Amino acid sequence: MMRCPNCRGKDIGKIGTQQFYCWNCFIEMSVINDKLTVHQVEADGSLSSLNDLFSEDERTIYENP
Ligand SMILES: [Zn+2]
Repeated sequence: MMRCPNCRGKDIGKIGTQQFYCWNCFIEMSVINDKLTVHQVEADGSLSSLNDLFSEDERTIYENP
């Protein structure tokens, strides 16, 4: 199970084939080549990238054994 890179929570909902949503901190994540792309949904419905807030390592998906 993946974790949210922002809150480290596991309360992740799947909203698309490679898209996930954190119900805890309300950010949207897309998986591209085993890396997370993190977006925040603004009040007007637009997306702003949060990738700059996280390191490469924090955005890498590690599968639990
Ligand atoms: Zn979160």
